[in-house]
Amino acid sequence: MRTDIVHIGAGELTYEIRNIMKVVEKLIDLGLKVNFENIGDPVAKGENIPPWLKGIVSDLVMEDDSYAYSATLGIPETREYLVAMNNRRGGVHLDAKDIIFFNGLGDAITKIYGFLRRTARVITPSPTYTTHSSSEAAHAGLPPVRYPLDPENHWYPDLEELRRRVKYNPAVAAILIINPDNPTGMVYPKNLLQEIVSIARDFNLFIIADEIYHNLVYNGHKTASLVEVIGDVPGISMKGISKELPWPGSRCGWIEVYNSDRDPMFADYIQSIANAKMVEVCSTTLPQKAIPPIFGHPAYGEYLATRLERYERLSKLAYEKLEGIPGILVNQANGAFYMTVVFEEGRVNGNQSLPIANDPVRQLIEKLTTEEKMQPDKRFVYYLLGSTGICVVPLSSFSSDLQGFRITLLETGESKFAETIDTLSRSTRQYLASA
Ligand code: PLP
Repeated sequence: MRTDIVHIGAGELTYEIRNIMKVVEKLIDLGLKVNFENIGDPVAKGENIPPWLKGIVSDLVMEDDSYAYSATLGIPETREYLVAMNNRRGGVHLDAKDIIFFNGLGDAITKIYGFLRRTARVITPSPTYTTHSSSEAAHAGLPPVRYPLDPENHWYPDLEELRRRVKYNPAVAAILIINPDNPTGMVYPKNLLQEIVSIARDFNLFIIADEIYHNLVYNGHKTASLVEVIGDVPGISMKGISKELPWPGSRCGWIEVYNSDRDPMFADYIQSIANAKMVEVCSTTLPQKAIPPIFGHPAYGEYLATRLERYERLSKLAYEKLEGIPGILVNQANGAFYMTVVFEEGRVNGNQSLPIANDPVRQLIEKLTTEEKMQPDKRFVYYLLGSTGICVVPLSSFSSDLQGFRITLLETGESKFAETIDTLSRSTRQYLASA
């Protein structure tokens, strides 16, 4: 090429959750039966969509305006509905103009970081959901700026460290929190959120809270939404229907903007995001129309409660079966539907392996793990996959220096889940003892 055409941040765009699928496809061709524990899609894992919800969607399919473009920020009636829901909760008062719809939060995430000045950074948790850390790093053309979540302390953030990193890095303009968290399943207690808000206030930052899992909290844990604690600090909450309904294929999510009138620069930044949506025209119409009748349906509360009961049972079961294994650290998930296991320092290396009965599968795994210079936890993930068919995601791929892996709590067959965790537990012991 006459001139360099590769974006400065191109190297930062990785997404191991789906990347591993390239290997999985080859393994399936070689006869491996794969148990997908890598993707957070409840529908793909067998969640049945209740008939009343399908009924709402099928009625909307028969309405002509479901096929039209919607208003740039989103359907006014739906934004009014969400505003009313929000204002009932208390905290910052919202108007419909404070809500912008996107084609899934993935779209919102790329715009939120993409329209930030290149030199302004968002400090992201470590580990974190990769779409955030990769998009933020790609916008800056530099590795992510991070603050640690502590697996020795329920995965809560180390707030002293966060304050220190914010203080000594003047490029930091915002703090990201994901509550409940992906990949750890941690739920922020209200006082931690308040402390993060006070750090933002002290250093004149804004807050981005990804709250896509905010109604998926269980095991008796309690949290608060950003809107309840943010006070006068500018902020963005990200919400969506991919996980909660669940309807990830709708590609529908929205942001709620708090206190944009308190800072002219923040207001200009939000306006640039709205303008970017206008240039693109609008987001998917039909799912936006479906939100008020679905959230308002009399069966919705019970439907959600039943799912939460299942995630709670599976979170306990996974914790009980894994916690005693020497060499690993586990925390019970209390929200979202993920759980992350950490290998203690020095427990995984480049020599360990698991037996693989299928010869071509073994050869491929051996080739991949020797050819590619890989993190030790990725090597574990590959051997686990080849040996048992269980596909998990390495912790190091979630913008983390820790070694470990993430599983999901999405399996709808509970005895199958128990078997999977038993196999995982046996294989982990065997792998750690193998060298
Ligand atoms: N935010 C978090 C924390 C997620 O875990 C995910 C998906 O796993 C998303 C956003 C993506 O949401 P969407 O399907 O709306 O793009």
